[in-house]
Amino acid sequence: MSADIIDGKAFAAGLRGRVAALVGPFRDQAGRAPGLAVVLVGEDPASQVYVRSKHKATVEAGMESFEHRLPADATQDQLLALVRQLNEDDRVDGILVQLPLPAPLDEQQVIATIDPDKDVDGFHVVNAGRLAVGQPGYVPCTPLGCLMLLKDRIGDLSGLNAVVIGRSNIVGKPMAQLLLAESCTVTVAHSRTRDLPEVVKRADIVVAAVGRPEMVRGDWIKPGAVVIDVGINRVPGAEPGKTRLVGDVAYDEAAAVASAVTPVPGGVGPMTIAVLLRNTLVAAHRRTGVALAPDAI
Ligand code: NAD
Repeated sequence: MSADIIDGKAFAAGLRGRVAALVGPFRDQAGRAPGLAVVLVGEDPASQVYVRSKHKATVEAGMESFEHRLPADATQDQLLALVRQLNEDDRVDGILVQLPLPAPLDEQQVIATIDPDKDVDGFHVVNAGRLAVGQPGYVPCTPLGCLMLLKDRIGDLSGLNAVVIGRSNIVGKPMAQLLLAESCTVTVAHSRTRDLPEVVKRADIVVAAVGRPEMVRGDWIKPGAVVIDVGINRVPGAEPGKTRLVGDVAYDEAAAVASAVTPVPGGVGPMTIAVLLRNTLVAAHRRTGVALAPDAI
């Protein structure tokens, strides 16, 4: 193995520390802490875990956490009314509705109802549009976290060939936009791409966001490339009845060829919540007019 391990856990801890250090000065000027509201509908166990860790991280950063829980049989109107109430609440800088929502709730309508200036998940079409045209807005947390890791590792990305595998609205598409904004030559590969190994072989930067365990093999990767593995896949473990997490990249194979690679777990995963806190801090400054130096975070 020759590649460096990109330690997303350590980077995320550093980012959370930088966010926390900026909360005090904000509070001094605004007279209140930045606030993040998280809405959970139903009892999905994975969603409950995510919401709990978001709450914990928000409080640890010194921010105000507003948790709202609705029953699984809540109506669309109830949920929309709650989102509108949070839009109007001045203590709330960021609103996050935990997805997926139980059927038959309409996710797109809920996202469209969130005030785009409180949309710290960056899922509203206004924020997708702002990203596409290069205006300040909110970028989905996972791809922004990937970009931070890449810039920390490589520095200037200009002119590099980047291949993003996956075209979801949450990861693949915003990732491609971010890399384009950094002047990479970007290829977006997806389930209909022909000869994916050959496409990936051209990449100086590979971002895999597919959801297929260890799909990207070592011999697809150009020697010296930087590999970011977004995938989180649960597969059977070595012992019967046990499971383990793997990414979309065959880690050991990739590590033998790449110059740097993110592990799973401990790579991209921890970045998502750290970036959520960062986006909430930015929203708090923008909404109140309290200045935040452009390179502060
Ligand atoms: P998605 O299912 O919405 O999109 C998957 C994409 O992969 C699609 O665009 C599809 O075209 C593409 N794809 C499917 N099969 C393919 C194939 N054989 N070859 C090439 N492309 C193929 O998934 P998503 O929401 O973008 O998430 C992708 C992965 O990232 C999942 O494993 C998910 O768990 C993980 N994820 C992790 C984080 C995090 O680390 N915090 C956040 C979001 C998603």
